[in-house]
Amino acid sequence: MPEFLLATPDLSETDQARVAAVLERLRGVPELATRYQPAGPVGTLADLAGVPVMLKDDLQVALGHLQPRAERGATWLFQSGGSTGSPQVGYAPTGLYMAEVYAHWRALGRDDVFVNGWSAGKMWGAHFLVNAYADHAGCVAMNLGAMSRDEYDPWLQFFATRKVTGYGGTPSVLRLVFRHAAETGVKLPDLRAVLWLGEAWDRQLDADLAAVAPQARRWGMFGSTETWVVATNTPDCPADVWHPLPSQLVCVGEDELLDFTCLNPQVLNPVLRYRTGDAGRVVSCACGNPRPALQVLGRRDNLIKFRGHLLNVDDLVADLDARPGVARSQLVVREAADGGSVLQVRLLAAAGAGPNAGPDAGPDAEPDLASRVREHILGSAFGPSIVFQRNPHSLEVDVVESLIGNERTGKIPSLVVRPAG
Ligand SMILES: [Zn+2]
Repeated sequence: MPEFLLATPDLSETDQARVAAVLERLRGVPELATRYQPAGPVGTLADLAGVPVMLKDDLQVALGHLQPRAERGATWLFQSGGSTGSPQVGYAPTGLYMAEVYAHWRALGRDDVFVNGWSAGKMWGAHFLVNAYADHAGCVAMNLGAMSRDEYDPWLQFFATRKVTGYGGTPSVLRLVFRHAAETGVKLPDLRAVLWLGEAWDRQLDADLAAVAPQARRWGMFGSTETWVVATNTPDCPADVWHPLPSQLVCVGEDELLDFTCLNPQVLNPVLRYRTGDAGRVVSCACGNPRPALQVLGRRDNLIKFRGHLLNVDDLVADLDARPGVARSQLVVREAADGGSVLQVRLLAAAGAGPNAGPDAGPDAEPDLASRVREHILGSAFGPSIVFQRNPHSLEVDVVESLIGNERTGKIPSLVVRPAG
């Protein structure tokens, strides 16, 4: 039986009623009816283990049919991933279920001055979710959104002048901001809480925060646009260990793949054993919270095949990011119809790395950076290096001005695939 993480020993009557209600809704979706017809009744976790796992497309089919509405106030639609085709969406009522998050996670309080650094457009939920949290905290809040590089200096100065104590954003965005602040000698002595959501924590941030804002500690939220916030962590927890909220039921299934069930009766999305692609395991957390916690191991889809060889995207990017002179790396696979795919390694040079480097040092920061990194890849023992030795043209290493990012969310993916044709 898969392993369940739940606040109570087994499903309460309220939990059972919620599961029954969601099952009933799913049986009403024509495309899913035959799948959910045999499922249930669910009285225990053992019963729940027999309910089929729901994939992303299943949930989108269900939402398309059900079109849920909030009991009162507006019903909000937000966009989750979905890089191709029509956007994947999630529904939520005003408030975005943040009362429960605030009750269990005190990243901000009334005395804080908080800057919301998540972008607000294109139906992305993070900005609004954190504003709903700030509403419970009762702090002073400012809606900045993501900054572009030429905006860093004036806004960082503004943070210092206004004695900003809290700042939140996607780790991709935070990393570039705090790298810049560290390189230019900015100090934010009042900053004590850095909120993050949307990606894994970035180790580079620990070093840069120590220099820029020695009082600052990280506070993370984990979830998705379909499940909303599933779990939180505090500065005393490892960055990849999470404490699920009481209304969220996490299941660790075969191959450590996670699925999620929202037990809050107010939740509009029919999230029942919903699998996101994240893997994890049950652990005890070093923070001292006695309840079992969830260690998230990353996604199981970060292994790709390149010219027949397995390439672990996260491992290669982490290795390249640790090379001297590299601020951040990114892989781009250009597929070719004849199988002759090319791997482009894009490197953002660390400012201050080269002889003439100033804060805006770009590709010229270190003339031999690309060739050094290329030699490193060719000489390493990782999957496709043998391919590059045989086919030197299948590897390109370029120092670039900027990496390919998602304009909507500010996230910078480790891998971009350009299909043939
Ligand atoms: Zn903990």
